[in-house]
Amino acid sequence: MQLAAAQVSLTVARQTLKATVENQESVIEELRSANEEIVSGNEELQSSNEELETAKEELQSTNEELHTVNAELQHGNAELTQLNNDLTNILTNSPLCLVIVGKKSEIRRFTPAAGKLFRLDSSDVERPITDVIMGLEVLDLEDLLRSVTETLSPVEREVQDHHGKWYSLQIRPYMTLDNRIDGAVIVLVDIDAIRRSREAANAIVATVREPLIVLNKHLRVVNASRSFFETFKTEPADIVDKHFLELEKSEWDISSLRTLLSTVLEGAQDFTDFEVTKKFARLGMRTMLLNARKINGVSGEPDLILLAIEDITDRRARESEIIRTSADLKRTNTQLEQFAYIASHDLQEPLRTMSLYIDLISRRFKGTDPKTDELFDIALSGVGRMKQLVADLLEFAQATRAEVKFEPVDCQGLLSRIEKTLKTVIANADAKIHYDSLPTVLSSDLLLGQIFQNLISNGLKFRNPNASPQITIEAKERASDWLFSVGDNGIGIEKQYTERIFQIFQRLHTAKDYPGTGIGLSMCQNIVERYGGTIWVESDIGKGSKFFFTLPKPAPNA
Ligand code: ADP
Repeated sequence: MQLAAAQVSLTVARQTLKATVENQESVIEELRSANEEIVSGNEELQSSNEELETAKEELQSTNEELHTVNAELQHGNAELTQLNNDLTNILTNSPLCLVIVGKKSEIRRFTPAAGKLFRLDSSDVERPITDVIMGLEVLDLEDLLRSVTETLSPVEREVQDHHGKWYSLQIRPYMTLDNRIDGAVIVLVDIDAIRRSREAANAIVATVREPLIVLNKHLRVVNASRSFFETFKTEPADIVDKHFLELEKSEWDISSLRTLLSTVLEGAQDFTDFEVTKKFARLGMRTMLLNARKINGVSGEPDLILLAIEDITDRRARESEIIRTSADLKRTNTQLEQFAYIASHDLQEPLRTMSLYIDLISRRFKGTDPKTDELFDIALSGVGRMKQLVADLLEFAQATRAEVKFEPVDCQGLLSRIEKTLKTVIANADAKIHYDSLPTVLSSDLLLGQIFQNLISNGLKFRNPNASPQITIEAKERASDWLFSVGDNGIGIEKQYTERIFQIFQRLHTAKDYPGTGIGLSMCQNIVERYGGTIWVESDIGKGSKFFFTLPKPAPNA
């Protein structure tokens, strides 16, 4: 029984145990599954944690980027403020008369100069410009603004205010940085002075007597003088705006002229006296003298070329006539010189015979009666004067034929030789000849000697009755010549005769008062001029005369 009970108990116990085991197993199972859940929860937590870490890092980098962006923005902001300040300063201090208008022509900004010109103040901002610039004569301003904003091409025109003052009105499109059109910029430049000087220049061009043509840098005709139109028988409509080289079937298209004009345009040089001889369409064969000068445009004015064209056909014809005449004159002169030489030379012989025979006859008949004696005296003195004349003429003829030489001439030595020649006259007149340290010059001993001898002889001859003659010879070296002077203390020459005395046979006194032939000074002048010099006299009546003459130095390679 006890066993059965024990067995029952055991069975119960076994069942209980089993139930417990089963219970425990289910608990364990639950625990396991709970554990698994915990493990998986843990894994999820770990991954969330990792994600959070990544998010944190991202946040950190975004934060850094934001910092950079912020710094950049701050910098940009400072730059914008600076730019705005600069712009305000530029506009405030600009002497330009400038107005910025919006798309509907409303005023957005303007410079003080524009404010002053149009009497604008801040209350005018946003008002249409067309209501404001009433002072200017631009009736179509609205159209102009529209055309600029629509076509994007700037317009420029010269306008006047109500006082008649001139401005250049320039309207340009206002472009935003992203290339959108957002209104227009109006600029007014005071061109009153330029315009008036241009008008003055045009008036000058129109009135100058010489044909003048004004070209722009493309060689197109801007303007021409009235005389140009008259000379070339043309009118403004035929030439203005046309290319100069294409005028009148390109009659000015000469390659050397083309080159010269482009040199002038480059500003390299002006050209002077460019001569053109050709057949002109409306004028026939003519010779023109061209002179050109570039006028640099100031204050935006364009560069111009002033081209003067002078018709020198007649002048050239006259010049050739002069050349021909002077060649004829030279020939005649040479013939005359030859004639004078031959005549004076050949006349000497018959004169000598005449003088000899008159002398012989007078000796035979002298004393027969006083009348005959007087007649013989007259005849003899006439022959004497004629002899002197022929001798002087011969000297003159020889001087004009003598060669113009450039040999060293020692003037000191030359003067002392002349002094010896004139020894008797000097002694008779109790005269003094002063000269000292005279130079050696390049000339001809013979010809320079003739000048000195003539001038000194005159000084001795035309002496003051109350004083012994004092003759001073001086020389002064100058850059290109020697200046000689021969001064005396003689009777002097009246001012009105100081030029005439150099003409041949011109004398201021009778042969009775002062013997002579009137050939000496003319011969001096002939010699001086053949050397390229000049001769003149300065004189004070009663005090004396000073004759000057120059002797050009020959060129080094002459
Ligand atoms: P000539 O001496 O033979 O008369 P010139 O040709 O040498 O001829 O001079 C022309 C004239 O000029 C002279 O007749 C004289 O009236 C005047 N003349 C020349 N030299 C002098 C002088 N040194 N003083 C005053 N008169 C002079």
